[in-house]
Formats: sequence, C-alpha cells, structure tokens
Amino acid sequence: MDRKLLLNPEHAAELDRNNQLAGFRKRFYIPEGKIYMDGNSLGLLSADAEQSLLRVLDEWKHLAIDGWLNGERPWFWFAEQIGAMAAELVGAKPEEVVLTGTTTVNIHALVSSFYEPKGEKNKILADELNFPSDIYALQGQLKLKGFDAAENLILINAQENGLISEDEIIARMQPDVALVFLPSVLYRSGQLLDMEKIAAAGCERNIPVGFDCSHSVGAIPHYFDDWGVDFALWCSYKYLNGGPGCAAFLYVNEKHFSKEPMLAGWFGCDKEKQFDMLNTFIPSQTAGRWQISSSGILGTSPIEGAMRMMLEAGIVNIRRQSLLLTDYLVALLKERILDVFDDFRIITPLQHKSRGGHIALEHPEALRISQALRSRGIVPDFRPPNIIRLAPVALYNTYTEVYEVVEILSEIMQYREYEKFPSKRKAIS
Ligand SMILES: *Cc1c(COP(=O)(O)O)cnc(C)c1O
Repeated sequence: MDRKLLLNPEHAAELDRNNQLAGFRKRFYIPEGKIYMDGNSLGLLSADAEQSLLRVLDEWKHLAIDGWLNGERPWFWFAEQIGAMAAELVGAKPEEVVLTGTTTVNIHALVSSFYEPKGEKNKILADELNFPSDIYALQGQLKLKGFDAAENLILINAQENGLISEDEIIARMQPDVALVFLPSVLYRSGQLLDMEKIAAAGCERNIPVGFDCSHSVGAIPHYFDDWGVDFALWCSYKYLNGGPGCAAFLYVNEKHFSKEPMLAGWFGCDKEKQFDMLNTFIPSQTAGRWQISSSGILGTSPIEGAMRMMLEAGIVNIRRQSLLLTDYLVALLKERILDVFDDFRIITPLQHKSRGGHIALEHPEALRISQALRSRGIVPDFRPPNIIRLAPVALYNTYTEVYEVVEILSEIMQYREYEKFPSKRKAIS
C-alpha cells in the first residue's frame, strides 16, 4: 500500500466500507469503549451464539429430560451434528469430527489411542514451543505407558529467530518415533507450520501425526483428509467464538475408526446401543467413539450459532480478510513503530503461508506496554516474557481499529506512558 494511503485514517474507513464481511461485526457484542484485539484467546459473543444458548435454556425449562431427543437440535446428537458442521471448516467428512471434551482432555483421549510404543519405537516427537498443557498431557501419556517423560519426549528446539523448522522436525522422524504431535499455529509467535508437508512425511515413515489446531481453526482453512492428517483437536473458544467453557472438537481420519479409545466412556458408544447399558463397550463407528461423557449441552450450546455464522461467512473469505487486516497491521507497525522506536521486533513470519491469525510483537517492556494499551481501551494480550499479541479478527475487527491501535501504541512509546505501570503480571494476562 502506498505510504500516503497507509498513514491516512480516511483510507482505513474506506477499506472498512469495502470489506465484504463488514456486516458480521454488528452481530457481535463488542465490549463498550474497547478495541478488542484478543479474539485468539477468547472470541466474542455474537447474537447468533446467544440465541442458541437461550434456546437450549428454554428447552431445559420446558422439555426437561425430553430435550435429549426432542430439542430443536436433539441434545443426544448435538456433538455429532455440530461436529459435522465443523467438518466443513477443516476439510473432513461429517463423521470424522465431533464436539466433545476439552482441548487437553482430547489430547489425552487421542494420544492414548495413537501412541502405541513397540520395542525401540517408543518416543513422542513434539516441540518446545507448544502450549504447556499439551506438553503436560504428552508427559502424562508417556508415564501412563511406563516411560520416562524426560527421555521419551523429544522436543524440537526453536531456531535462533524463534521459529520451528519443519525440516528439522522431519529429519527427527527416525525409527524410534512412535508419534508426532505438534501445534498448527504456535501460540506465541503465530508461526503456521506446514501441516501438509509434516503429515506427508509422517505417512511415508509410518508414524502417526496429530495436530493441536486451537490457534488455527476458524482463522485459516484446513484440509485434513487431503493432507492425510491422522488426528487433530482444537478448542472452540478462540477463533470459533463458542464462549468460555465451550467443548472442544476432535478429528480422526476415518481409516482409524477401528482404533480403541483407551479413555472409554459411555458417550463413545454406538448410539443405538448406548442405552442397552451393556457392560461390554460397543463403540461408535465414527470419531464419536472418542467421546467420554454426556455433552455439556448448556456450556456448549453457543457454538451452534457461532458455527452457523462461520459457515455463512466462509472460511476462505475469513482467511482472506484476516490476511488483509494483519498485512495492514504489519505495514503500519513497520512504518510507525519499528522504524521509529528501538527494541521492537515482529516475530511472526510474514509470508502468508507461514502465519496464522495474530501478529506477535516483541519488546523487553512488553508487559508494561500491554498494560498501557489496556488503560487506553485496547485489549491485546501479553505472553511472557516479552510478547504482545494482536489479533484483528476477520468477522468483527476493522481497519479503523487497527489504525487506532498503532496510533495509540505510538503515543504510548513517544510519551513513555508504559513507565507508570508495574512490571508484575496479574493471574491472567
Ligand atoms: C488454547 C490452547 C489450549 C487450552 O487448553 P484447554 O484444555 O482448552 O484449557 C491448549 N493448547 C493449545 C495449543 C491452545 O492454543
């Protein structure tokens, strides 16, 4: 973009007028007086999601137990039905995706089936930058199978630039590796791994490959079936806007439907047999077999409206708009921040194919700067030790907001406003 246009707020307003997804913003509740740039941590409530929650409350009120079969979307099949909707977002068949559990519980549920150590082939390959909960779950799964977590969990290190190299991952796919488990988008840097390349390498070497896509589903398209991914899971409260406590999703490629769920529970039963109450587990012939318990229908119901909206907008359009917004953010940051103030660095890879939906800005005073941004009505998030994440979300953020964020950040730096804030972090940042 021409420098004069870039620095002109009128141009931001014009870009907003021409945005084909602009109509979605008014269906969201935007916190009053705030510029919300944290949709990669907790997506916003929409009127659509609110409606589906209120409908389920009403069904509980009027139908009570009959809601399981007679709700507008019967609760008994809720997980499978919403899973089938989500399948469109991730390039899967309807029966390969189910809404269940939570991100971390789903890692346990799936890794317990897909980590099948045999002789020397007993290691799990992961990366040191993954979300800590994922690492804890992998360590727990190794211990459950009698292995030493320190020895059997191989963590690929970041390179000097803070990024993970796919080639290094692939080079470490040696015969001692029984499972590869990686994030799609790294939660700090925003780096997007080449899932297709990694899955293909796993397939060639006969090593199952699973992904945690919490930071990518709802922001970028996925093609799990075409890529040959073995399994995946992701949360629904970030880019999917399902709300705090909403259940997560899991995907299992249909070629693995005969695998045994080791964290078995009655909601994994073949639905026709579940209420026979047999002591023999007769699992569903779909990804539904990895469900454990009754769906948390109330906490989960907002995802229905949120998912409908996502499908209405189209994930390819969402990705296009997300890249336009983040490109605009990066251009403004370069011009007004990186070229003017010391010590800033964008750690997110800038090539489209290597980044997700947020931009990570590194600065030694990141904690105090993010507090200063908050005091000015901007909601970023901070990840220790030195990263500010900014996620302009395609369905509800605007170019004008991005422009203002950079404007305010520039003032905060110019007048050293951040120096007023303590350098100690709150429980949630
Ligand atoms: C958000 C996120 C989680 C959160 O786990 P929960 O079990 O949903 O609390 C885990 N892993 C990754 C990669 C995430 O992005």
